[in-house]
Amino acid sequence: MTHVFHRHLRNTPPVAVAASGMTLRDAAGREYLDASGGAAVSSLGHAHPDVLAAMHAQIDRLPYAHTSFFTTEVAEQLADELIRTAPEGMSHVYLVSGGSEAVESALKMARQYFVEIGQPQRTHFIARRQSYHGNTLGALAVGGNEWRRAPFAPILTPATHVAPCYPYREQRADETPEAYGLRLAGELEAAILAQGADRVIAFVAETVGGATAGVLTPVPGYFKAVRAVCDKYGVLLILDEVMCGMGRTGTLYACEQEGVVPDLVTIAKGLGGGYQPVGAVLAQKKIVEAMSKGSGFFQHGHTYLGHPVACAAALAVQQVIHRDGLLAKVRDDGIAFGQMLRDEIGNHPHVGDIRGRGFFWGVELVADRGSKAPFDPARAVNALIKKDAMARGLLCYPFGGTVDGRQGDHVLLAPPFIASRQDLQKIAALLA
Ligand code: PMP
Repeated sequence: MTHVFHRHLRNTPPVAVAASGMTLRDAAGREYLDASGGAAVSSLGHAHPDVLAAMHAQIDRLPYAHTSFFTTEVAEQLADELIRTAPEGMSHVYLVSGGSEAVESALKMARQYFVEIGQPQRTHFIARRQSYHGNTLGALAVGGNEWRRAPFAPILTPATHVAPCYPYREQRADETPEAYGLRLAGELEAAILAQGADRVIAFVAETVGGATAGVLTPVPGYFKAVRAVCDKYGVLLILDEVMCGMGRTGTLYACEQEGVVPDLVTIAKGLGGGYQPVGAVLAQKKIVEAMSKGSGFFQHGHTYLGHPVACAAALAVQQVIHRDGLLAKVRDDGIAFGQMLRDEIGNHPHVGDIRGRGFFWGVELVADRGSKAPFDPARAVNALIKKDAMARGLLCYPFGGTVDGRQGDHVLLAPPFIASRQDLQKIAALLA
């Protein structure tokens, strides 16, 4: 009998006992090749010596100091490093303990910004269907998964949801990708106007969609059009890069490839690489200045923010990414990985779509390729794949069921950046 409150209360997962590089081992001695980095977390693989050394040194020097009394050298260094490589105009880094906390903090930062500048009537968020932003109440409110929201719906922050950018099913036959992107930006504008142009705080979106819909890569021009709509109505743009950021798509931030700069961007997962819970919000100068000149205080906070050991891990992850040229590796090997997936499973009768960027790939499964009809959710194909993959020693991240009335089974692949071409080939073959 387990006393750990596992999410799936009716089955206890295997016990992980050791991990190194691309591999985890369980108590029964079985080895697993990590093709998903947990949930797109372990960007440098397991037990990276440089990250462990940085954490050990930090624990010996200063394991903890509370931020209401002190800042720390390592938090300052991490913030400097993140701003050095951040999207243009970002001036401050708010360090938290994970993705949901980062999103929650960004939502409150955006709201407080409007209070500070004398627009307290802005109380509404607009986000996207089939998105995931975390499980705390604010993050859940902007998340696009109705099933997750349902039990909590009556107690959530006001938010409406527009369509995600998802050409495989949604782009019309007579439409170019660019026209499709513009149509979606038009839907966002209509949603803003339906709330009242001066009532919306922010539009919240994952730059590249993640867990809930199996990697949604935006069409060219979509985010530029979204940025223009937000600017027209003074609505902030919050990009959630908790999963797709920190090099996962081949650039440190996915929005670099879209040519847009958000007002706030959230990061986590790959920021700490799985070594320590850590997340962050990067904020544009105008937001921090408004708060600094106004109340001078961000009315929010968590006990563990800026934890020194988490900062040491995150700083080491950044150093390794740049020192080892991992962004270029992810871009190059990511193209090869996409081709391996297409070669191995592209002709499979139940593979509808393979999409991705860098080391961030999604495979959409269908009952019928021609009609794109999904499997009956009762078959729980995604759960079967996860189970069978683990039995074959592969960790991938399937997701499925009905999301916003839309059925679908997906497999997310997010290997550590250290994966060799042989590892990638093995992943594609095992998945097949
Ligand atoms: N935003 C996105 C885009 C995510 O993918 C996730 C986690 N899957 C979160 C937020 C929440 O992060 P966490 O689980 O660390 O709270």
